[in-house]
Amino acid sequence: NEAISRNFIEQIIDKDIEEGRCETVCTRFPPEPNGYLHIGHAKSILLNYGLAQEYHGKFNMRFDDTNPTKEKVEFVESIKADIEWLGADWEDRLFFASDYFDQMYEAAVKLIKKGKAFVCDLSAEEIREYRGTLTEPGKNSPYRDRSVEENLELFENMKNGMYQDGEKVLRAKIDMASPNINMRDPVIYRVAHMTHHRTGDKWCIYPMYDFAHPIEDAIEGVTHSICTLEFEDHRPLYDWVVRELEYPHPPKQIEFAKLYLTNVVTGKRYIKKLVEDGIVDGWDDPRLVSIAALRRRGFTPSSIKKFVELCGISKSNSSVDYAMLEYCIREDLKLKASRAMAVLDPIKLVIDNYPEGQTEELEVDNNMENPELGKRVVPFGREVYIEREDFMEEPPKKYRRLYPGNEVRLMNAYFVTCTGFEKDEDGKVTVVHCTYDPESRGGNSPDGRKVRGTIHWVSAADAVKAQVRLYENIIDEEKGVYNEDGSLNLNPNSLTVLDNCYVEPSLLKAEKYDSFQFVRNGFFCVDAKDSTSEHPVFNRIVSLKSSYKL
Ligand code: ATP
Ligand code: MG
Ligand code: MG
Repeated sequence: NEAISRNFIEQIIDKDIEEGRCETVCTRFPPEPNGYLHIGHAKSILLNYGLAQEYHGKFNMRFDDTNPTKEKVEFVESIKADIEWLGADWEDRLFFASDYFDQMYEAAVKLIKKGKAFVCDLSAEEIREYRGTLTEPGKNSPYRDRSVEENLELFENMKNGMYQDGEKVLRAKIDMASPNINMRDPVIYRVAHMTHHRTGDKWCIYPMYDFAHPIEDAIEGVTHSICTLEFEDHRPLYDWVVRELEYPHPPKQIEFAKLYLTNVVTGKRYIKKLVEDGIVDGWDDPRLVSIAALRRRGFTPSSIKKFVELCGISKSNSSVDYAMLEYCIREDLKLKASRAMAVLDPIKLVIDNYPEGQTEELEVDNNMENPELGKRVVPFGREVYIEREDFMEEPPKKYRRLYPGNEVRLMNAYFVTCTGFEKDEDGKVTVVHCTYDPESRGGNSPDGRKVRGTIHWVSAADAVKAQVRLYENIIDEEKGVYNEDGSLNLNPNSLTVLDNCYVEPSLLKAEKYDSFQFVRNGFFCVDAKDSTSEHPVFNRIVSLKSSYKL
């Protein structure tokens, strides 16, 4: 049933179109350039962009840069790059709220002239005291009844830099007895002698969010201004602003629940601390869920899109298991990623009956499930590396891999039978010996003989040494998110660096962000920051097995 499967935002928009409240749809994504975007922002971006597409409407990219204290050009650039990467195309609709400072000033003057705003000399603390509480109404400011003329003059003085920060503010004149505290004569302009990243020192007064945002939306012709639940209480003020300013096509604010994820850190404050303390390698450390980190880890835009779709749009807060994000990337890469052989914990296997000095090339499928990915050539020779755990001197029952006397398949290559092994003085196995069956080339024997184990390998003569990084969740929520002192309870095993891995030589051609399925070990991606052709570095995106079931 189409009507039921539409989310509540689509239902609101459908009705607005049906009842003629709007003709086209225009949405926006309005980040403040004060940090990096994270997976929660991705949800908002894809929601707004997706609605614009669905209704053949417009999608505005707008920097909400009305508060110069925390904003930086660095963040503007990173935010743009992240949104482009996600595939939300704003075309020529890139806006900066700071471009509207003149119009916002004029809007404030209009309110003053209507008797709907006044300049107030109370200090921030006094304003708080006068505001009242949830159970107690507020008190009118003694400056509330200033004349329109006086307010116009004082507001102009504010603009002209005649006052210190905090000396005067402009407030909307609404209702100090309103049950909604946001409606108790909220501050709409403040004095702040600060240099803005775009307007420089042109302004020393800046509009407050609740005043600026509806104006930005109205100027741009936004029809549906989608934000998160904490703004629900601000909606009456949003509506008051667009009504009093008499915009012919008032935008409508709609709230939805924020996306929260388990076992990761999303709070900006905490991430900043992890970065500063050197616990993570910058804002794009692959254990984080900033968009830059997810990209570096090897997530794809389509996996993130799939994830936010699965999460759905809701009116109540809840958190989603990180394993669901892993499920989405696994599904996405299953058919797209080429397979490759990589040995993470190597031990040498010598095939004693393979002619010395001989090598050969085996042609193998890049992805058995997707023939479109073609084939590649893998070198094979007398000595190969296998995983240390694929050999056991004394195997337990049901162990199907190499042990003395057992025959297994070297994936895509030959059957080999273990004939012995060597140890160093500490008793550690250093070399495993075997013989191969030349008739079993390609991995099957003409006599129909079966083997029960298949292991991967890399030709020792051609292997490329690589670093591989394995990740676990940075927080193990079962043990608690916070310690007693309020610090984060970090998982000490969130990063494992393996420096002694061997990968097949075809991987030397891999480029930054390329991803592969390393057979039996998971999906991996070339680390964009640290990988070089001399020292390739791979991040494990996700293991092959899932704890998550749809
Ligand atoms: P944070 O403090 O985590 O950076 P924010 O709300 O300060 O979040 P903004 O830059 O103000 O971030 O937000 C840009 C847009 O992204 C807003 O419309 C906001 O509602 C939305 N957004 C932020 N966090 C989430 C989230 N966790 N889930 C969904 N949308 C979010
Ligand atoms: Mg923010
Ligand atoms: Mg914010």
